[in-house]
Amino acid sequence: MTAYEEFQGYFAELNDLCCVINLLTWDARTQMPPGGAAARGRQVATVTRLANERFVSDTTGRLLDAAEAEVSGEGPDSYRARSVAQAREAYTLLRRVPTELMSGIAELKMVAQQAWQEARAANDFGRFAPDLSRMVELNRRLAEAIGYQEHPYDALLQRYEPGMTAARLRGLFATLREGIAPLLARAAPGSEAVRADFLDRDYPEEQQRAFALEIAQAFGYDLNRGRLDRSAHPFEISFTRDDVRITTRYNRRYAPAALFGLFHETGHALYEQGVDPALARGPLTTDLLDLYAVGGTSYGTHESQSRLWENMVGRSRPFWQLHFAALQRHFPEQLTGVDAEAFYRAANRVRRSPIRVEADEVTYNLHIMLRVEIEMALLEGSLAVADLPAAWNAGVREYLEIDPPDDSRGVLQDIHWSTGLIGSFPTYTVGNVMAAQFFAAARRATPGLDTALARGDYAPLRGWLTENVYRHGRAYSPDELLNRATGASLDAGPYLAYLRGKYDDLFPPQA
Ligand code: ZN
Repeated sequence: MTAYEEFQGYFAELNDLCCVINLLTWDARTQMPPGGAAARGRQVATVTRLANERFVSDTTGRLLDAAEAEVSGEGPDSYRARSVAQAREAYTLLRRVPTELMSGIAELKMVAQQAWQEARAANDFGRFAPDLSRMVELNRRLAEAIGYQEHPYDALLQRYEPGMTAARLRGLFATLREGIAPLLARAAPGSEAVRADFLDRDYPEEQQRAFALEIAQAFGYDLNRGRLDRSAHPFEISFTRDDVRITTRYNRRYAPAALFGLFHETGHALYEQGVDPALARGPLTTDLLDLYAVGGTSYGTHESQSRLWENMVGRSRPFWQLHFAALQRHFPEQLTGVDAEAFYRAANRVRRSPIRVEADEVTYNLHIMLRVEIEMALLEGSLAVADLPAAWNAGVREYLEIDPPDDSRGVLQDIHWSTGLIGSFPTYTVGNVMAAQFFAAARRATPGLDTALARGDYAPLRGWLTENVYRHGRAYSPDELLNRATGASLDAGPYLAYLRGKYDDLFPPQA
């Protein structure tokens, strides 16, 4: 056995452990009876500890040394060299983080999530504040352990979006905000006149599911290697490319929420199903920092695919011109007297809402900017947790020109901080921006792409994405992947052009 083969076998078993963690997680969120929660928590903790011990062990160091020597002559595009380099990077980083800090965060997650749920239900920020203070403190220590040049946020970003920094985000956000402001100023008042009463009718779950699955399969989701279940919060999860599952929740009064949620998760699933089979059970399909089996290169890149299929394809006019008739067949009474154009317009209304998950494409990134600004301030220590609700409300007023009705629908609305995810919010906006870059590049490279999309032929788009994004798994950094696929680094230009094209048409500027 060569040194690389030994390294590969060792990491294949690590990936198996990560797939087991994923499977326990999927089951907990879709099938498990409530009474199983405590036992399941212990099972996940045990398998995670085994995976972590295996990864940060001296054995890993020895295998890495030997494998590095073997692949040293291979070029930068060699998946073998990439596997070894990425495993080395994660190994070095995790060895710097004290074990007690990692287990401290893991333990706090369990308590903090409970406290957050109670605080949100009771509209009482004070119940969550002590755990949140502790979470911020532990994340600050994590940032110090990982190390950074300019801002502690940079260290945390490396876990979710390698190469991203606080400074780059500030520049990106400033450009986006300037471009979005005039669109919002027109689209929000213009949307008040858009007819949407038909969205608030009774849409039975079975038909929603049937329609959404037809579309997911048309996009290319392979049900022989996938399945759809119901869960409280929609998600996608995989145990290798050959078993990639998605979930959704159905809202009978507002069908489009479930439909677009499902298009979103389908985008994530296409990424996972499209990974090169040669990368299975290796470092390039394992998030070694989080011990999670995943084929996508970063949170932002993954999100670019869900948003590309959900918004740029699924929320487009050609899509509804083609598919509205099928939706109407599933819901003949609910959609009587409605046509494709009316449905398209209703699905693209722009509203200043205090709730992120209800946000449209124009306001969505403003919600993210507010959260990121606050995370940076908390981490710097320039904002105290006690002052957070006031800072939140001031931020919502500044970005959206509205007042949150209460803390439950304000500072307490998102689960992220209670689960320790500080530094992941920016990846939603990064995903939006990357999606437009990939889509524009696919258009340039594929003559007739729009004609194909208009007739429901999604193979050319999926083919380009598979070739340029999906198949590479985690082989490249987000910047490398973007440059290889589109010829440019992260750039807000194509995204702003996309938004302008869509919303100038829906809500034209006054002549
Ligand atoms: Zn997503």
